Amino acid sequence: MSETIIGIDLGTTNSEVALIRDGRSQVLDVDGAPILPSVVGLAEDGSLLVGRAARNQYALYPDRTIRSVKRRMGEDVRLSMGEQSYSPQEISALILKRLKHAAEQQLGDAVHKAVITVPAYFSDAQRQATRDAGELAGLEVARIINEPTAAALAYEVDATQARTILVYDLGGGTFDCSVVRTGDEVTEVLASHGNNHLGGDDFDAKLIMHVLEHLRSEHQCDPSEDRAAMARIARACEAAKIALSNAPYARIDEEYLLPDRDPPVNLSLEIDRETYEAMIEGYIDETLEAVHTALKGAELTVADVDEVLLVGGATRTPLIQARLEQILGMQPRAEVDPDLCVAAGAAIQAGVIAGEATSAVLVDVTPYTFGTSAFGDMDGAPYPYCFVPVIRKNSPIPTANSEAFQTMVDGQEAVNVRVFQGENRDALNNTLIGSFRVEDLSDVPAGNVIVMRFELDLDGILKVTATEKRTGKEKHIAIDNATTRFESEELDAAKQRLAALMADDVEVIDAAATETEEHREAVKARALLEKAERLLESASAEDKEDLVDLIEAVRDALAADDSAKLGPAVASLSDLIYYLET
Ligand code: AMP
Repeated sequence: MSETIIGIDLGTTNSEVALIRDGRSQVLDVDGAPILPSVVGLAEDGSLLVGRAARNQYALYPDRTIRSVKRRMGEDVRLSMGEQSYSPQEISALILKRLKHAAEQQLGDAVHKAVITVPAYFSDAQRQATRDAGELAGLEVARIINEPTAAALAYEVDATQARTILVYDLGGGTFDCSVVRTGDEVTEVLASHGNNHLGGDDFDAKLIMHVLEHLRSEHQCDPSEDRAAMARIARACEAAKIALSNAPYARIDEEYLLPDRDPPVNLSLEIDRETYEAMIEGYIDETLEAVHTALKGAELTVADVDEVLLVGGATRTPLIQARLEQILGMQPRAEVDPDLCVAAGAAIQAGVIAGEATSAVLVDVTPYTFGTSAFGDMDGAPYPYCFVPVIRKNSPIPTANSEAFQTMVDGQEAVNVRVFQGENRDALNNTLIGSFRVEDLSDVPAGNVIVMRFELDLDGILKVTATEKRTGKEKHIAIDNATTRFESEELDAAKQRLAALMADDVEVIDAAATETEEHREAVKARALLEKAERLLESASAEDKEDLVDLIEAVRDALAADDSAKLGPAVASLSDLIYYLET
């Protein structure tokens, strides 16, 4: 058996270790989790802490804890930790040692060699410092490879075919965007651009500011000098940020946040995704500018990009995926866990060096997008059946996601939930795989929020739950084998079933869509037109003539956007349809 070489992603916020087992790259657990926080500290009794325990004490004891050491690699500095000071290489070596030890424990054998990844922009001095850290940890560094190259390897982008790949890497504290060219067994980074001080931590900081403002205005207090309270707020904000990646709302609840105040302050705050996205939009714009700069550096344009790979935990933010899709015209790939992707790629490189046969990182993904339909905007016009994806194609399963919708009319008692599978923006062009009705909703004005949660398990069973947010009242269905069930079914048959369903008024709108009286009138008019056109086939010659006249009148009013004419025309057409149907 060849000697095992481990692959290490030595990150600013987190680090991971992986190796090849049975031809496949496998990320190993360290202290029970695949992610080791890149934090080193000294406990109260002077013992060494590496990882989660060090991270947990950072807010309280920053003078004896070191984080983000990667930012200092290559610098001639001493970093103080307690009474002593250390070089960045020494601190990094402690992290590497922890990873090496975890691998040895699981292998039951000593490990001597590693492939370590570094950002593409790392200078020679920074790369050398990384090598030195490896040596200090008792590891011969078999190779240093660029992080975007490792990401491309994890996706095993076909090396025989020349392809241009954009790797968008947003971690906790750094952002890098690289253009990678693969082919002829050579993978090279053509250009790289980024910001060493931008990442998910900045998103947390925005939420923390929001919470502090809330505490100032609602509780007349400012805990910004209280380390313990700030540590709790920071943790709660990061958890809320992560929750908002899969849900339209998140709660921040910290009981007895300031227990010494009279009365004690209990923090309880809800944040919706829209408010959060407005906070971080500026940062995302900045990363997209960097994408253009990187492409320019490689003398390429958006049109030259074959694939976009997402790396780094913060890329799980849905707004990032949506904005990238918007500017690049393709869905970014994120099926290999963005936290583990670089380590997995490093292990593949390590396997190649050790002469092992390796293959792609194996992930179970959904081959289809699942979603629902809602009133929204289609090519600038209001349209009742816009497809709203909830679980996107290529998401690793099991997965769950939710979106918020609103009722359209005052006192609306029920909503029809329709579940579609497909990729078309028009839900009617996708396959209807299930539907159900939620009744007895609260008697409240339009805008009653309904949260739709989609859960897809490993067996392809899709569970869809609709919940009235204000009461928690919910209803759900489970659709067996959602990922395969309709593969062979005719799309037309599905469309016909749909047409029958759609005769009802549309009752749900996308939360983001605008809602006006005119929109509703136009929707009703279009539904009537569809019905009238179906009736044309069976109507007598005389009725047909009347129908055609009224259809024309409704169409003209719609085209002219003339609501004064539309109302009476719709009323007349509606009367005629009623007469013909009865
Ligand atoms: P990394 O440095 O790649 O491990 O990324 C860490 C960053 O990703 C931290 O800021 C995390 O809070 C953030 N992160 C992890 N999971 C998520 C998620 N589901 N949604 C948004 N950010 C996340």
